[in-house]
Amino acid sequence: MNSQSTLPGVFDLAVVGAGIIGMACARAAALKGLRVIVIDRDLESSGASVRNFGFVAVTGQERGTAWSRARRTCAIWEELAQQAEFPILQRGLWMTARRPEAVPVLEAFLETEMGEDCKILSRAAARACCAQVVNEQVQAVLSSSIDLRVESREAIPKIAAWLAARLGVVFLRQTAVLTAAPPRIETSRGLVEAGAVVVCPGDDMVSLYPERIAKYRVSRCKLQMLRLADPGFRLPGIVMSDLGLIRYPGYSALAEAAPLRARLEAEQGEHVKHGIHLIVVQSADGSLVVGDSHHHAATPDFSADERIDQLILGEFAAATGRSPPAVRERWLGTYASADRSMFIDMPAPDVRLVMITSGSGASTGFAIGEEVVTDLFGGSA
Ligand SMILES: Cc1cc2nc3c(=O)[nH]c(=O)nc-3n(C[C@H](O)[C@H](O)[C@H](O)COP(=O)(O)OP(=O)(O)OC[C@H]3O[C@@H](n4cnc5c(N)ncnc54)[C@H](O)[C@@H]3O)c2cc1C
Repeated sequence: MNSQSTLPGVFDLAVVGAGIIGMACARAAALKGLRVIVIDRDLESSGASVRNFGFVAVTGQERGTAWSRARRTCAIWEELAQQAEFPILQRGLWMTARRPEAVPVLEAFLETEMGEDCKILSRAAARACCAQVVNEQVQAVLSSSIDLRVESREAIPKIAAWLAARLGVVFLRQTAVLTAAPPRIETSRGLVEAGAVVVCPGDDMVSLYPERIAKYRVSRCKLQMLRLADPGFRLPGIVMSDLGLIRYPGYSALAEAAPLRARLEAEQGEHVKHGIHLIVVQSADGSLVVGDSHHHAATPDFSADERIDQLILGEFAAATGRSPPAVRERWLGTYASADRSMFIDMPAPDVRLVMITSGSGASTGFAIGEEVVTDLFGGSA
């Protein structure tokens, strides 16, 4: 390390972390004409932002701020897809309800402001759209038009390239940030000069501001993910099932979710215990990304447990009435986890620490980036 030499350039903002939250802050600042540098310890993004479903979920986000942020974030993904030239691969959610107790949850949801872009389809109407994922057990489907799906592992590098080429954002890769006290940002390659810093460290709780992060009682959550072969048809939307109704707070906070939870705990206790719910998304080549599970620990173990994969695949079969296609790929992901969905901390007047402590960074991140930059530099988001 050479902490004496100063790297060329003086920046208005240094962003630590080139995941989706770092990108969101860099985008918002660069659009204001600020000089921005993004610093990441990896050569390429390899954190949660590229391991996820790429599900930009509005429907099901926590009522209020998170839901509003998700709507704004969706609109920005649409803009960026045009600007950075990556496809929106799916539009719309297809939440299948197969237990009678799930239907009142859908109905209650539709009555709220969150039901704005949604409708409920009968089994017959849903079968007319896509018989392949609507079996005899399905009682109804909540169909939304707003939710999106992107291929994160392709979109994130394209966003970085666009930020660099079109907005002049500088990326400093394979560089660890050791201390962040503007205007001095000490890195493993030397000093960077920037007027302000946003730290977007993903689930790194120890490198920067560990004492501030500790106050939020942050842990980590491990998820198991699968890619299945092309089933030979296109999904009508992002497919979810009953288990999602007791996990996503936009539904689970409704009083109508309590009887469903009781039934699922009785009938699918192992799924509930392992935090399993079903999300099925489809890629350009037809393959399906399917998950997931949730196991919490300060240092999650690194095993991909076959029993967990079988539970996920079992829910796929139960929800769609189809045998799952062959597994083509498996991976693990982790994200920071706490009793709130995210926090923005202010270690110093010119420093912000942004941590998404739930599985919602791709869905809410761009709006959060705008808020953080407005808070630091003023103006409107
Ligand atoms: C399997 C899985 C599925 C998910 N599915 C979804 C989904 O479909 N929809 C959704 O909205 N959310 C989803 N999430 C959650 C979402 O992916 C995360 O909330 C989001 O990616 C967090 O983004 P981030 O930028 O904070 O973190 P990360 O993507 O982890 O990026 C943090 C970056 O910071 C860098 N870094 C940290 N400390 C330093 C340092 N000191 N110096 C230099 N670099 C540093 C790291 O190298 C890393 O690149 C999922 C998460 C997982 C794991």
